[in-house]
Amino acid sequence: MPQTYDAIVIGGGHNGLINAAYLARAGKRVLVLERRELVGGAAVTEEVFPGFKFSVYSYVVSLLRPEIIRDLDLPGHGLHVLPLESTLTPLPDGDYLAQWSDHDQTRRELCRHSPRDAEAYDEYGRLMHHMARAVKPILGMVPPDPTSLSPRDLLGLLRLGRHFRGLGAERFHALYKLMTMSAAGFLDEWFETDVLKATKAASGIIGTFLGPRSPGTAYILLHHYMGEIDGVFRAWGFAKGGTGSISEAIAGAARRFGAEIRASAPVARVIVNDGRAVGVVLESGEEIRARVVVSGLDPRRTFLQLVEPRELPGEFVDAIRRFTFRGSSGKVNLALGELPDFTCMPGTGPHLRGAISISPSLEYVERAYDDAKYGEFSRRPYMDVVIPSMIDPGMAPPGKHVMSIFVQYAPFQLNGGWTDARREAFGDAVIDTLSEYAPNLKAAILHRQVITPADIERVTGLSEGNIFQGELALRQLFFLRPAPAWAKYRTPVRGLYQCGSGTHPGGGIMGGSGRLAALAILKDGA
Ligand SMILES: Cc1cc2nc3c(=O)[nH]c(=O)nc-3n(C[C@H](O)[C@H](O)[C@H](O)COP(=O)(O)OP(=O)(O)OC[C@H]3O[C@@H](n4cnc5c(N)ncnc54)[C@H](O)[C@@H]3O)c2cc1C
Repeated sequence: MPQTYDAIVIGGGHNGLINAAYLARAGKRVLVLERRELVGGAAVTEEVFPGFKFSVYSYVVSLLRPEIIRDLDLPGHGLHVLPLESTLTPLPDGDYLAQWSDHDQTRRELCRHSPRDAEAYDEYGRLMHHMARAVKPILGMVPPDPTSLSPRDLLGLLRLGRHFRGLGAERFHALYKLMTMSAAGFLDEWFETDVLKATKAASGIIGTFLGPRSPGTAYILLHHYMGEIDGVFRAWGFAKGGTGSISEAIAGAARRFGAEIRASAPVARVIVNDGRAVGVVLESGEEIRARVVVSGLDPRRTFLQLVEPRELPGEFVDAIRRFTFRGSSGKVNLALGELPDFTCMPGTGPHLRGAISISPSLEYVERAYDDAKYGEFSRRPYMDVVIPSMIDPGMAPPGKHVMSIFVQYAPFQLNGGWTDARREAFGDAVIDTLSEYAPNLKAAILHRQVITPADIERVTGLSEGNIFQGELALRQLFFLRPAPAWAKYRTPVRGLYQCGSGTHPGGGIMGGSGRLAALAILKDGA
C-alpha cells in the first residue's frame, strides 16, 4: 500500500524547504524529496577538503525575506548572519576604492576620488533605499495578471497602481529607469568615478548573460538592493557556518512543524491521473502518493522532465521551452595556507572581512562580457571575493583560510564545451587575474575547487547553471515568471504547484517563492 501525504515537495532547495515548513505549520502532512545526499540546493556548506568548509555555490545572504525568518523562527534554529564590513576594489596602479560600513570613512574615501561623487553617494543611497522600499511589497505579493478580468486580479492591479502613484512622480520615474536602463547608464547619471560605477554596476550583471551596458541590468542592480539585514537595506552578510546553515535552519523548522525530509531520493516523474497530480515515482521505482505535489525545481526540469508533455497544453510547453537560462557564472573555492596580501592595502585588516571586487573599470567588466558573448570564458573576469574564515573562523583549520571567488563570465555554452582541461584553464584565468592584485596568492593555495556552469547544472540541477533558476529579465519576471497566466504557483495540472526561484519573485536566497506557493496551496484548501 503506497504511503499518502497531504503534500510532496520535490527538491530540498531553500524554497522547497520553506514551502514544506509553511505547509507543515498549517498542519499538513508533508514529505520533502531531495535528490542529493544533503538539502539546500545552491545553498549548501560542504567540507570539500578536510578541515576546510565552503559555501560551495551561494556565499552571501541579504535577500532572505524577514517575514520568513520571523515566521519560521530561523534564529531559534541556528541562523546567525554576520555582517560583511566593506567592499574593496583594488586598481591595477596600486590604488583602490574602499566602501566601509562606517559612513564618514566611506565619504572621506570617495572624496579622495571625487568630491562630487561623495556628495551624490548619499543622495543615490537614499534613492535606492526608496526604490527598494517601493518594490519590497511586490516581492511579497502574488503577481496579478494584467490580462485577466477576474476580480482578484483587477483588485491586485488597482492596489499596485495606487502603490506606484503613492511614490510620487520623481521616484516613479527613477523606478521606470531602473526597470529599463543598463546599470552603467543609470550610474552614469549619478557618478563620474569609473571604478565606483564599475563596482556598483557589478551587482547588475551577477547571474546574467549581459554586460553592464546592456539594458535590463539596472533592474538586477535593484534586485540585489532589495535585501536587508535587521531592517538595513543593501546590507549583505555571511551566515555563520556557511549558506548551508540557512538551509539547515529552515529544514530544522520544517521538521519541528512535522515535515519529513528524505535525502538521496531523486524523483523521476510526477504521476498524473485524469489531469490531476496524485504523487511521484522515485528513480528507484518507489511510488509515493499525495493530494498535492509541489516542485521546487526550475520550470524546465519540472515541466519538460517530470511531467509527460501530453498532460500539458501545447502553448504552455512552448512558453516553458522559450524560458531562458543562459548560465554565466562560475565559482573558485580556495583553501589557503595564509591570507592574501593585496598590494593596494598590504597586511591583514578589516578589508579582508568584507567583499573584494575585481571591477577596476566599466570597460574592464564590459570586456569580460565580450569574451562570453563569443562563447569564451573571460580571460580577465569580474570577481566577487570573500574570505569567510575571516568572519567565521570555524570555516577553516586554525591559522588557515577559505576564499570564495564568484566569477563572471563563464558561459554555459562554451565554444567546444566544458572539459576538465577547460575547467582548469578557467580556474587559471581566475587565479592569474587575482594574483595581479595579491601576488602571494598562488603560493598560498593548498587546494582549489573550480566550478563551471556545467558543474552547477550537474550537481545542483539548476538548468544551464543559471543561478536564479532562469534569467531575471523583464520578459520573464512578475506575471510572466515562468509563463503568462501561470505565475501564481499553480500549473495546468491540477494539484501540481511550483515553488522554486523560477517563479516570482525570483532567484537568490530569498525564499519568497517557497512561501507564496505555500500560501496559494493553503488558499486552494489543498
Ligand atoms: C554559484 C552560485 C552563487 C550564488 N551566490 C548567491 C549568493 O551569494 N547569494 C544569494 O542570495 N544567492 C546566490 N545564488 C543564487 C541562489 O543560491 C539560488 O537562486 C537559490 O539557492 C535557488 O534556490 P531554490 O530553492 O529556488 O532552488 P535550488 O537551490 O535549485 O533547489 C532545487 C533542489 O532540487 C533538487 N533536485 C533537482 N532535481 C531533483 C529531482 N529530480 N528530485 C528531487 N530533488 C531534485 C536539487 O538538488 C536542489 O536541492 C548563487 C547561486 C549559484 C549557483
